[in-house]
Amino acid sequence: MTGLVDTHAHLHDSAFDGDRLAVIARARAAGVAGFLTIGTDVGTSEAAVTLAAAEPDIYAAVGIHPHDASTADAAALARIAALARAPRVVAIGEIGLDYYRDHSPRPVQRTALAAHLQLARAVGKPVLLHCREAHADLLEVCAAEGVDAVGGILHCFSGDLAVARRGIDLGLLISLAGPVTYPSARRLAEVVRALPLDRLLVETDCPYLPPQPWRGQRNEPAYLPVTAARVAELQGVSPERVAAATTENAARLLALPPVGRAVPPAPA
Ligand SMILES: [Zn+2]
Ligand SMILES: [Zn+2]
Repeated sequence: MTGLVDTHAHLHDSAFDGDRLAVIARARAAGVAGFLTIGTDVGTSEAAVTLAAAEPDIYAAVGIHPHDASTADAAALARIAALARAPRVVAIGEIGLDYYRDHSPRPVQRTALAAHLQLARAVGKPVLLHCREAHADLLEVCAAEGVDAVGGILHCFSGDLAVARRGIDLGLLISLAGPVTYPSARRLAEVVRALPLDRLLVETDCPYLPPQPWRGQRNEPAYLPVTAARVAELQGVSPERVAAATTENAARLLALPPVGRAVPPAPA
């Protein structure tokens, strides 16, 4: 079976400081063949780049989360722009809008989002979009900044079918996280049933949002097959088909080398 790609993880997070390598090993054993570890501010973006440099199947993304948009001053954005050019950085994120928590003022969030979209176009890398209760504004800023030139991912998708379709029209992929496994997530289930498999991805958002069997605990990428299995059930296809399709979708968007193939040892 094709390995899965966890397209949204925070493996550098301090929640994994005690057992990070064991967590990664468990995920590999469970069939996760690629990981995207994603910064949310300058410090965690640096940590993501460092981790990706050490592990052959981990790639990094750099950016400032909407919660931290108030910290996205010129110096911080310049540092993110420098990190964005590192070879194992495959995307700009985590960026977006969060009108549910409102940790940064909304106009500041929109300005930071636009600045990151401009950076993404400058470096030619796709964007990883976080969105809570802000889909109309998010899609408007993305369209105004020409997101279709680089593409991107609506991560931990929580919108309705109309939002998903507008995102797809802008060149975005729809990524499903642990909540798709929750029995109460009936609207999300209907959205997943209706979307084409060639636009879908799976992710953990670990250490947050574990799938149903582990709710209330720390999430880790070894749990990703449970989310993928739920997507397969909703799509009416086999888990193998979901793995193959989502991994191909991720590799295409993020320009990853072939995922999950054995790499021959380097000549001595
Ligand atoms: Zn997020
Ligand atoms: Zn995240």
